[in-house]
Amino acid sequence: MATRPLITLAAMETFEIGPWRVESDPASTRQAYAAGTAVQCDCGYCMNFWAARSDVYPDAFLDLLARLGVDSHSEDEVSEYGPARGESWWADFERRRGRWQEWRWLYLGAFWALGRVSGPPARKQLFADDTYEIRLGPHFSYELAPSGDLFTAPPDDSPFGNHPRFAISLMAEVPWVLKTPPWELPRG
Ligand SMILES: [Zn+2]
Repeated sequence: MATRPLITLAAMETFEIGPWRVESDPASTRQAYAAGTAVQCDCGYCMNFWAARSDVYPDAFLDLLARLGVDSHSEDEVSEYGPARGESWWADFERRRGRWQEWRWLYLGAFWALGRVSGPPARKQLFADDTYEIRLGPHFSYELAPSGDLFTAPPDDSPFGNHPRFAISLMAEVPWVLKTPPWELPRG
């Protein structure tokens, strides 16, 4: 059993992103990701996300993750919310017709980073045409959130569990890149 790393929050780096002021500890965040064991869900929707991921995250988002010390392949979670806005909606989906290979699929996900953010709190509710605060291109947006504002939090035994941390929440409209149609794959 691995020993939990000692995270000191010693080397804080302060900068601003959109409306948020960030105090990040990239060295400790990297250490926490190295100590963690990312468990990736193997349901069809998550498999599609992992398969498409290299085309999903804009460069500016990857730059931010690198600056924060976040491992861009270690999302805490991604969840799929059906065909993205503007696509044929559930009637088509459930009847298995329409050009589903051309649809994009709405996913929400989050990463953790050690440090603190101050600024607007996380959104409690998203409406149909909402995106997160910072938009990068037509299919991707994100925002930062203090962990106390979220419905979910990392478990206590996670390297992020008992330390000051914040979330990077993302919303992405992702193409279906698997050969198998979504309804022939198991749901998570
Ligand atoms: Zn899954």
